[in-house]
Amino acid sequence: MQKVAHRSSEDEQWQELKEQCRLRDNGLCRCCIILTPEEIQQRNKQGIPQYLFTPCDVAHVESVGQHVEKTYDLDNVVYMCRADHDALDSFRSPVTGKAISKEEHQYWWDRILKGSVPNKVNNNNSNTVSSYLDQGPTKPRFDPEAWLDS
Ligand SMILES: [Zn+2]
Repeated sequence: MQKVAHRSSEDEQWQELKEQCRLRDNGLCRCCIILTPEEIQQRNKQGIPQYLFTPCDVAHVESVGQHVEKTYDLDNVVYMCRADHDALDSFRSPVTGKAISKEEHQYWWDRILKGSVPNKVNNNNSNTVSSYLDQGPTKPRFDPEAWLDS
């Protein structure tokens, strides 16, 4: 089998997928947007950076190691900031940075996948940042710049 530079800058299929993923997820980290204000506060205290409004990269839901056929599957990727991507890849909590169990890892992925599907976000989540994003289909009601400054 020819050695192809999968997921490199020359991999056009990958670049295309990344762009589709970015557009679908509104250019926002799917993990950052599901955090509650308390979790964000907790994370800030740990000094874990968050890149909610800066370019992220693409994270696989089911790892490519186990599901190579899902490498280019848009349904198997989410847009995610580097900090969260690294945390989840290495089984650490995106909030505390501490090691998490397989179950907790699954819990985070469940939250990420549920929290970011606009039609499925229920109104009880009024404390989450994503609920603000849900206020309008294209324009968040809060100002990202102001949010980052605070
Ligand atoms: Zn993030």
